Amino acid sequence: MKISINKKIMGLFSAGVILFILFAAGSFFGIKTLNAMLREANVAARKVNLTGDLQLQVSRLQHPIDNYLIEGDIKERDRFDGIVNEMSGLFAELKAIDMDKAWQDIAKKTEGDVIAFGEKAIAILYIDNPVGNKEAYKLSEEMSFMGDSLIQEADGFHRIAEDELAGMEARVGVLTGKIILYAAIAFVALLFSAGLLYYYLRKYVTKPINELYEGAGIIAKGNLQHRLTINTGDELEGLASAFNNMSSSLEEARKELDRRIFELYTLYNISKVLSTTFETEELLKEIVKRVSSNLGIEDVVIMLLDDKAQELYMASGAGCLSEEICKYATAARYKVGAGIYGWAAMSGEARLIKEVKQEKDVIPEEILSPDIQSIIIVPFGARGKILGLLCAYKNRPDVFGREDLELLKAVSEHVALALENARLYKETKMMAITDGLTGLYNHRYFVARLKEEIKRAGRYDRPLSLIIMDIDYFKQYNDTHGHQAGDEILRKVADIITQEVRNSDIAARYGGEEFVVISSETGKGQAVQMAERIRKVIEDYQFPHEETQPGGRLTISLGAAAFKADAANADELIKKADDALYRAKESGRNRVAAA
Ligand code: GH3
Ligand code: MG
Ligand code: MG
Repeated sequence: MKISINKKIMGLFSAGVILFILFAAGSFFGIKTLNAMLREANVAARKVNLTGDLQLQVSRLQHPIDNYLIEGDIKERDRFDGIVNEMSGLFAELKAIDMDKAWQDIAKKTEGDVIAFGEKAIAILYIDNPVGNKEAYKLSEEMSFMGDSLIQEADGFHRIAEDELAGMEARVGVLTGKIILYAAIAFVALLFSAGLLYYYLRKYVTKPINELYEGAGIIAKGNLQHRLTINTGDELEGLASAFNNMSSSLEEARKELDRRIFELYTLYNISKVLSTTFETEELLKEIVKRVSSNLGIEDVVIMLLDDKAQELYMASGAGCLSEEICKYATAARYKVGAGIYGWAAMSGEARLIKEVKQEKDVIPEEILSPDIQSIIIVPFGARGKILGLLCAYKNRPDVFGREDLELLKAVSEHVALALENARLYKETKMMAITDGLTGLYNHRYFVARLKEEIKRAGRYDRPLSLIIMDIDYFKQYNDTHGHQAGDEILRKVADIITQEVRNSDIAARYGGEEFVVISSETGKGQAVQMAERIRKVIEDYQFPHEETQPGGRLTISLGAAAFKADAANADELIKKADDALYRAKESGRNRVAAA
């Protein structure tokens, strides 16, 4: 039940007020009753006094009569009057003190008896010669008898007053006892109420407030996991619940912040690699290593798309579960559109596999190891084209969340960027050393490379040859068929040269329609053979419109020279080969001449 603090305080206050009123009313009635009793007790005491006086006066009544009979002194009449007067005052007070009928009856009866006694006494006191008067004695004896009964009556009256006082005292005693008992009960009830109030205030007010205060301190120190358990059913409970909500929101926000910082840190780490190298292999290796160590993912793999074969292959991997698996994975290729990788590469959609066993389409051979239970696959690309996949594996189920997926997505964008940069770098590098028309190396590269190769050949005393070739009557071809057709010839001749030389040979466009081949590990004889082979292939090849050329064929002339045998350095070697070429031209073209 929900009771607000306001109502609780009002309730406590009301209970306090009711208790106070009860206590005050009890005290008031107690005091009032006690007061009334004390007043009654005073009256009773006064009655005892008055009846005592009455006893005394009654006992004195006989004396003036006896004296008068003995001495005959008329002053005794006045004494008797004096006593009777005092008694009449006493009776007046006795009748006024209590209106109770029994009391009034006794008072009136005693008074009546005293008056009767007085009347008889006056009869004696007014006898002229009382001394020795027999008649008077006789009367006096009667009076004495009457006086005794009057004394007894006064005694009885006094006893009644005394009994009443004793009764009164007993009642006061009982009442005092009761008041003490009630006061004790009230005191105990008050103590109990105070205890109850303390318990209630402590349980429902001070303790929860303390808990709130301490909780705020704990949160301020950074322990955001702290929660309050206040069940007071009032505003404090509401405050605790709001406090808990606030703590959990703060905790969530901090977790999110930590995650973001971590994410940024990881991305920063990865982006740092980008500036260190443009070599794709090294780059991917480093990225995979950093993702694995920063994110605590044991197995991270980057797959690249082989565009021609439309297959994915593992380009780099970190922390493979075992060497054997790594070897298998390195060799494996996955068709685009098939399997989990192939599908991700085709759709471009990332995939979070929380538990391998729950996914029907996961083929055991496709994942790195049978131990793997969680996978994230993120495709990445550039210029609208998928370049590859970033894959993360863990051998426990349900360990990857949405945030891991988002982070790997961000990482994969960096991977794509790095690959794109590396590609551009490679392309630029190639552009700087290749000839745009034929795709062969350009003049500059050729010269630099020739110098290098000569140095190496000189150092290890290895053979090296150079062939220079020039298309025969090419100006004529150009003039007849135009430059574009001429360019086609240049491209085709370059292709043939590339095909005819070994992989280790370096073919370049020397300039215009002149080509060169640096052939390492090749003596002059072998060079002449190679030159002759090229010449023959070109002579035999059917070029478009070659029938217009002199002799009806498109041909080339070649000059060959060898390092050390013909020349001691690059310039000399070029000169010697060029001279040989000149001679080939001079001696009729479509032939090979050696230096
Ligand atoms: P030969 O070598 O047999 O003495 O006669 P030639 O007509 O080939 O004479 P030369 O080698 O001096 O001619 C060079 C010609 O090659 C001039 C020019 O028309 C052509 N040429 C040079 N560079 C290019 C090029 O990039 N494209 C085209 N289409 N033609 C070029
Ligand atoms: Mg020329
Ligand atoms: Mg020429």
